[in-house]
Amino acid sequence: MIKQSRRTFLKAAACMTAASGLSTVSSSAAFFSPTNAVSPDGKMKLTFEPVDLQLRYPFTVSGYSRTVTPSVRTRIEYEGVAGYGEAAMPQYLGESQASVVDFLKRVKLEQFRSPFELEDILTYVDHIAENNTAAKASVDIALHDLVGKLIGQPWHRIWGLNLDRTPPTTYTIGIDTPDMVRKKTKEYLDDFKILKVKLGSARDREMIETIREVTDIPLAVDANQGWSDKHAALDMIMWLKEKGVVMVEQPMSKRKPDDNAWITQHSPLPVFADEAIQRLTDIPKLKGVYTGINIKLMKCTGLREAWKMMNLARALDMRVMVGCMTESSCAISAAAQLAPAVDFCDLDGSLLISSESDWCRGATLQKGVMRATDKPGIGIETV
Ligand code: MG
Repeated sequence: MIKQSRRTFLKAAACMTAASGLSTVSSSAAFFSPTNAVSPDGKMKLTFEPVDLQLRYPFTVSGYSRTVTPSVRTRIEYEGVAGYGEAAMPQYLGESQASVVDFLKRVKLEQFRSPFELEDILTYVDHIAENNTAAKASVDIALHDLVGKLIGQPWHRIWGLNLDRTPPTTYTIGIDTPDMVRKKTKEYLDDFKILKVKLGSARDREMIETIREVTDIPLAVDANQGWSDKHAALDMIMWLKEKGVVMVEQPMSKRKPDDNAWITQHSPLPVFADEAIQRLTDIPKLKGVYTGINIKLMKCTGLREAWKMMNLARALDMRVMVGCMTESSCAISAAAQLAPAVDFCDLDGSLLISSESDWCRGATLQKGVMRATDKPGIGIETV
């Protein structure tokens, strides 16, 4: 569907450019203009466009089903080179296509001399308004893509990371009936080396036992704050360890740091904060409460802060995982740049999007690893 409208629009954009003789374009209609027009004044130009990403499978929760997920695509152009970014906004974080577009309208990149002033630019973007972390990430990712392309290197190389160290990505099995869990597990075994199981319901043991009927592949579990008693949670973790589980995400409410700290202290498995962590400044108070943190670009404003979080967590002797939202190969490829530096990788978001609606190609699943490419920037090509 998206491909069709893009084609129509490419045609329209080509006609418009030809008819007007204009070399620069700022309307969203020309977002995908195939000509990388040079801005006459050499300034950066930000364009953006809301995109509904088609899901590969409908997402259903109690009588409500959705087939698309909202996102906003960004593009920053400078001296004939274009960098791409994306905002993915799950509803629970409070952003929408409308709020992202409103935010992006306020971003004035023309005031900066070049994209290499990345720190100044992203500090300015962060101070435009509070929150809006996905909107900020969409600028951050496009800017990193652009700077990497101008330098001619991917970010994993700029940071000095070895792609071969990228841990295999988890793929999530949702809470479901034993028959469905058995069926899905068998399907996923060909492509993945580790699976992630959503726990925090009355069916926790049943879920794990069902998967164990099929395979002994390592499992990560995410309780999503679903456990309410620390003693019961620790008993569960002890049992999970015997079942070949290798890590636990957000066992109890983020509002109960003492209980989570007690669990972490006694747990034989590493315990990661997810709901409890958003940005760099959250990290110091989580030391001792969790073993590690889950970094998500849409929550932390993008790659610049994600890299700082990675380094601060390491300095505090904490472990790190990288996660994602349901998002296209754009944001996943950006996250895949720092994946070689993490302990656990949870980058299955682009696998949930239909390939027709995924508007770029970048990091791909290779032997269970969501591996970044060697192309410059965030390593993507638009299609
Ligand atoms: Mg989680």
